[in-house]
Amino acid sequence: MLFHQLFEAESSTYTYLLADPAAKVAVLIDPVIDTIERDTKLIQDLGLTLKYVCDTHVHADHITAADELRKRLGALTCVSHHASLPCVDRPLKDGDSVVFGAYALRVLETPGHTPCSLSFVLPDRVFTGDTLLVRGCGRTDFQNGSSVELFKSVRQKLFALSDATLVYPGHDYKGHTATSIGMEKRLNPRLRDGMSEAEFVTIMATLGLAVPKKIHEALPANLACGKRPAS
Ligand code: FE
Repeated sequence: MLFHQLFEAESSTYTYLLADPAAKVAVLIDPVIDTIERDTKLIQDLGLTLKYVCDTHVHADHITAADELRKRLGALTCVSHHASLPCVDRPLKDGDSVVFGAYALRVLETPGHTPCSLSFVLPDRVFTGDTLLVRGCGRTDFQNGSSVELFKSVRQKLFALSDATLVYPGHDYKGHTATSIGMEKRLNPRLRDGMSEAEFVTIMATLGLAVPKKIHEALPANLACGKRPAS
């Protein structure tokens, strides 16, 4: 499998390009509008056809490139059915497969950061969006987030994967690129084995985070798959 982990510095977002090198078909997870030229050039340089754009959730901190990639490259937009977005070509639900050539992403519903948060599973790795970050997790204090749901998603669904499973997060703010289920079970300060749901809920309620800079621009655009309202 072809695999590229790409970074967008302003929102510290990771975009993942996955492709079957024989069939020449690709999937992008969480592409950002600001880096669309880089990503389309990479896809073209590799001679790939972009079949799907999968967003792990409706983002509040950056605008998705989903709509623009659909226009430019014909890629189908995939978001959780819980988001109920008319702009989505393929609403995804738990257990669905996103097939690209000989490979398939398995859809795992992991609500908590948002009700529509998804993780995408391959046999050796999982793309967790903002549900599970390296030694952390996404916030749960807006967009109908729920720390109780996030705790359940991580403990019951993600931590049920094998310890060797590599974890590729939606963001990192400290320079980490990936982790593993086993490492997070042992080292995640909020979610590691031994932490209770009540302790986790208290931590999440007292983070005191600022509202994302771009939320007022990003959320309305992302509810239209990244299409910005005409100005
Ligand atoms: Fe997010």
